Amino acid sequence: MTELEQLILKTQEQALAEIQEIQDEQGFESAKAKFIGRKGALTALMSQMGSVPNQDKPAVGKMMNAAKQAIQKALDEQALKIKEQKEVQDALDLSLPGRKPKVGHKHPVSHVMDAAVAIFRRMGFIVADGPDIDTVWNNFDALNAPLDHPSRSPEDNFYFNLERGDDYLDRNTLLLRSQTSDVQIRTMMAQKPPVRIICPGRCYRRDTPDATHGMSFHQIEGLYVDKDVSLADLKGVLATFAREMFGDKTKIRFRPHHFPFTEPSVEADASCFICGGEGCRICKGSGWLEIGGAGIVNPAVFENVGYDPEEVSGFAFGLGIERLAMIRYSINDLRLLYDNDIRFLHQF
Ligand SMILES: [Zn+2]
Repeated sequence: MTELEQLILKTQEQALAEIQEIQDEQGFESAKAKFIGRKGALTALMSQMGSVPNQDKPAVGKMMNAAKQAIQKALDEQALKIKEQKEVQDALDLSLPGRKPKVGHKHPVSHVMDAAVAIFRRMGFIVADGPDIDTVWNNFDALNAPLDHPSRSPEDNFYFNLERGDDYLDRNTLLLRSQTSDVQIRTMMAQKPPVRIICPGRCYRRDTPDATHGMSFHQIEGLYVDKDVSLADLKGVLATFAREMFGDKTKIRFRPHHFPFTEPSVEADASCFICGGEGCRICKGSGWLEIGGAGIVNPAVFENVGYDPEEVSGFAFGLGIERLAMIRYSINDLRLLYDNDIRFLHQF
């Protein structure tokens, strides 16, 4: 191989290596000028063709053309590579901040339900569960509701199969439970005393939805059965609950009431945690907030479930979770809790 041929190969080799490193437009311009431009290295070698012997000229000329083509091809390929890299970079802007995923949180009703469960669990109550669909016996009869009790009315309850001829007074007829007390019955039927349970869950009544009523709502009921259980025990438990739920200074008061399930029966109020009992908009000026019904379990209920009323006594209470949530978060319309408007729910 002649010296010129060696120079051509060496120039080609050097050009291909440098072209690999090119990153921008300026790099292409200078590489082009350096190797194949009018004053480039290859062009300079071309001028030496005159001194090549005639019989060698075709071979050297061919090599010269091949080198020029190889260099041009390398330039084109590198240009394409740079272009593709730039396109990927433009499409993927790594400097943009990431999109924050939307994270939900507990619904205010779940929040209050969980808080209530936690408070009673600390007092030694265990959670009992039951089905949303239950029998008339578990929902009314066993709880000592007389057959003519207004709470049994088909106007107020979701009975199943009445149109098929089922009788709403029949103990085996099914309905969506109207309170979670059926879980108390189920628990007492299944175990001997002592019993210390809470029954959190959903209930259903045919109420027309308004600011304080819904056709579905949540309750947490409690039942404590043992020897010598009194109203004082009930008051202590509800007072502890109210202090933990609404603040240390909260007091409890009982007002006489009537429920078939309990005797005596009371309605329990907590002192208003907003005004401290002075009277405000939330407590409607009374200084008290009604939180639920309670009382000493009626001996007739114990007889229904096979407990001996001479042996044991007990108390029961039922609190409305939506009502507690409305008090706690100062919400004035129950329907807001179920409109599923994220702008509203996001506040809690
Ligand atoms: Zn108040």
